[in-house]
Amino acid sequence: MTARILVVDDVPTNVKLLEARLMAEYFHVLTASNGQSALSICQDGQCDIVLLDVLMPEMDGFEVCRKIKENPATMHIPVVMVTALDSPEDRVRGLEAGADDFLTKPVNDLALVTRVKSLVRLKMLTDDLRMRAASGDELVINNFQNLDEGRRGKVVIVDDRVSSYEKVVRILSERHDVDVITNGNDALIRIAEGDHDIAVISLNLNDVDSLRLCSHIRSLERTRTLPILVIADGEQESLVSRAVELGVNDYIRRPVDAHELKARIATQMKRRWYNECLRESVQQTIEMAVKDPLTDLHNRRYFENHFSSLFEKAISASKPLSAIMCDIDHFKAVNDTYGHDVGDSVIRECSLRIRKSIRNIDLACRYGGEEFVIVMPDTNIELAKVVAERIRLEVCAHPVIAANGSHQVPVTVSMGVACIEETYDTPEKLLKRADVALYNAKRDGRNRVVAEAA
Ligand code: GH3
Ligand code: MG
Ligand code: MG
Repeated sequence: MTARILVVDDVPTNVKLLEARLMAEYFHVLTASNGQSALSICQDGQCDIVLLDVLMPEMDGFEVCRKIKENPATMHIPVVMVTALDSPEDRVRGLEAGADDFLTKPVNDLALVTRVKSLVRLKMLTDDLRMRAASGDELVINNFQNLDEGRRGKVVIVDDRVSSYEKVVRILSERHDVDVITNGNDALIRIAEGDHDIAVISLNLNDVDSLRLCSHIRSLERTRTLPILVIADGEQESLVSRAVELGVNDYIRRPVDAHELKARIATQMKRRWYNECLRESVQQTIEMAVKDPLTDLHNRRYFENHFSSLFEKAISASKPLSAIMCDIDHFKAVNDTYGHDVGDSVIRECSLRIRKSIRNIDLACRYGGEEFVIVMPDTNIELAKVVAERIRLEVCAHPVIAANGSHQVPVTVSMGVACIEETYDTPEKLLKRADVALYNAKRDGRNRVVAEAA
């Protein structure tokens, strides 16, 4: 795992120090001595993570951070504030400016490396999703900017000390819905069953090893991406490092500072929701490419890819396969009489009636305007005719109720049916025969099923 780390500090020796430590871990290091050049390196997409000094002349670290997080092109880059003073106020200001983490000078080697690594891990995940969502990217970013406005997160706290969890509940319940689990043994099951946005886990549980709980959460499919924040006592430095190595996302020390906890939780939530939002958009992009939006049936592009593979499968298994071409009768008249919107409702309703009449393994697609194609694996011509007849009856049984009941539109369909032939058949030829049969059904008077000539 390597990554490009941008180190920003106005003091050259500080830059050199961090650079040497990061390069020893084989990170690729870029440097900047002021905010302005840091921003342009980020804008050009040259870095994966920014280590940002707070005290700099002209533009200080808080402002640089805010600018990075405000810009849709750079907001996904994790920022680690490097503060000279170990003061809670600085931490809070940094986190409020959108920083993902902070380190205090003099920078502890272990803290530096573990925090950077854990952020790199998250960044890789986010980059992957961003890339796959690329076509809808702008949409995602826009959705994301008000994603967390007023949204309540679901927090689960695992802690068996009353005074400790009561305080955390008090701090978090103003903005979030909070569950408390006081028994470490129950925690794994209840967390796996829940749909939380973050787990806050005490490192001082009595009945179980907290680190084992964290690693269980990381290893379960359902909870693998659940953010975890651990609460440590001051002297638990090495336990914290091991937690971070296990994939724990963040930690906070006792006594818990309310502002710091709120800000850290907010950062983790935001990241989770961002990834969630990207994941949904990837899903939508995939569906948009293969689905027809009006009917939710597969579209012609999907059909063309998929039909040939169903065809090959049938041939190699010596199984029959049938296709039905189905076209709504006198549909132009529906549009002309009732308008295009009613026409759309009729197409939609026909697709539902078709879907009702076939099996799950059959492939139904919207082939063109008011034309559908249905491919049925393991189905001979006799059976295919029965199915087509069932569709025909289902479609003409009741008029389509459109425009909130103000129109009742009688509908019929004509269908052509064809089945794979033993020799020299191709998907194109099969479809062509179904199309010729459909043409004959139209010619013979519509509202009927015609099979290909034997
Ligand atoms: P036939 O019985 O011979 O199939 O006659 P038809 O009127 O159904 O056939 P034709 O192909 O002449 O007309 C189909 C019409 O379907 C023309 C087109 O404007 C309309 N159409 C195509 N796609 C859509 C759509 O998505 N929505 C609506 N409302 N109409 C559509
Ligand atoms: Mg038609
Ligand atoms: Mg037509």
